[in-house]
Amino acid sequence: MSEELKITKICCIGAGYVGGPTCSVMAYKCPNIRMTVVDKSAERIEAWNSDKLPIYEPGLFEIVKERRNKNLFFSTDIPTAIREAELIFISVNTPTKNFGNGRGRAADLKYVEDAARMIAETAQSSKIVVEKSTVPVRAAESIMHILRANQKADVRYDILSNPEFLAEGTAVADLINPDRVLIGGEQTDDGLRAIETLSWVYERWIPKERILSTNTWSSELSKLAANAFLAQRISSINSLSAVCEATGADVSEVAKAVGLDSRIGSKFLQASVGFGGSCFQKDILNLVYICEGLNLPEVAAYWQQVIDMNEYQKTRFSQKIIECLFNTVSDKRIAIFGFAFKKNTGDTRETPAITVCKILLEEGAKLEIYDPKVEAEQIFSDLTSASVTENPEFVRQAVKVQSDPYTAVERAHAIVVCTEWDEFQSLDYNKIYGSMMKPAYIFDGRKILDHDALQKIGFHVQTIGKKLNR
Ligand code: NAD
Repeated sequence: MSEELKITKICCIGAGYVGGPTCSVMAYKCPNIRMTVVDKSAERIEAWNSDKLPIYEPGLFEIVKERRNKNLFFSTDIPTAIREAELIFISVNTPTKNFGNGRGRAADLKYVEDAARMIAETAQSSKIVVEKSTVPVRAAESIMHILRANQKADVRYDILSNPEFLAEGTAVADLINPDRVLIGGEQTDDGLRAIETLSWVYERWIPKERILSTNTWSSELSKLAANAFLAQRISSINSLSAVCEATGADVSEVAKAVGLDSRIGSKFLQASVGFGGSCFQKDILNLVYICEGLNLPEVAAYWQQVIDMNEYQKTRFSQKIIECLFNTVSDKRIAIFGFAFKKNTGDTRETPAITVCKILLEEGAKLEIYDPKVEAEQIFSDLTSASVTENPEFVRQAVKVQSDPYTAVERAHAIVVCTEWDEFQSLDYNKIYGSMMKPAYIFDGRKILDHDALQKIGFHVQTIGKKLNR
């Protein structure tokens, strides 16, 4: 690598779940590069500059504290950061457009466009502009149009795609030791040179053989494809969980037997109430939308099934709860264990708990919700926007958020496990049984509890993908 490829100043537009951790790890691993993370939200930047970071990720605070104000800066001064940087990450949100019929909805690229326009208006020297956000295939073309339309003399732009594969809850570990880094760019001398420059940054701590370069469109599509494959595995095993419940097969045994095939592998084969989170559904909807636009309806329908199966699983689980409780939950107290979309996060975006709670509330249940990390206001806001009813007071009357699981279960007819928090495995279920209405039911939507032990206590237990005796 020639010395001239080295860069010393990077700016990242967007200080969210991706931009913040990515730049913090980069600053930690590249002490000679000055990283400036900018955001239009003054509140978010203030939090990044404080002792209470805006997001929780194991190990993140320590890294930020170590590098902040040395070679890691958080700022709202977007123009200065753009002007000074040689390389700019665009790491803004790309949410699903909130109109359409629910099948194949486009990603809203307005924030990406805003970022591109800011770069075009501000840049006075050449820049490598890197799509870090998850975008539709050929989004780089739109960014290039905006940049070139405003291009000043002596300023050149190279656009790269460098999607992020971190998972919430393990972001720092994923960034320090990724399976791969993907860099897509134009296959021209200039494009290849830009790829080499970004690759040089990652090579400061990542072995070169894990850095993969492709053309721009392959890279953009690979991110959507990776999330689609991961979600597809969950929907596949969940579809089989319904067959197991109807036949006496056990989905855990099936998953183990299937996963031991080295061609298949065992990861992401855990049956559950369904997947959630901000990315899987959004990215598959986007993939479906792209396929429909390309006049590939069969391909669109194929991927749409992954989402439909996830909806089916959430609804199927909720209906089973109602059926078991003598076909009515009206005025019954039901304890909900866990509201986050997965353990070790307070994130509730697209969490299956919303669907389960919505269905139970529509049937007249009274819910007592306990989650160790999710704030009560977040739960009320999620359930209110799930439009259980037009009356905003309804949710407040039918739902209580408890800060202790033992309070949540008092006089409850049933417990529903929606999130796989470790602490649910070590609760005193004898004590819990004693304080519940009888018969007492547990619906384990995450398959984390000891079902035999619970049955011995006297609980009626239902879980995903296994017919239990009582
Ligand atoms: P986020 O909502 O947490 O953060 C985005 C930030 O961008 C916000 O703070 C917002 O204020 C800021 N922003 C928007 N427009 C701006 C502008 N014009 N100028 C300055 N700041 C602006 O989003 P996120 O979770 O970090 O996701 C970012 C992208 O990365 C998305 O495309 C997402 O799909 C993708 N992604 C997310 C994850 C994840 O686990 N969250 C993982 C991989 C990829």
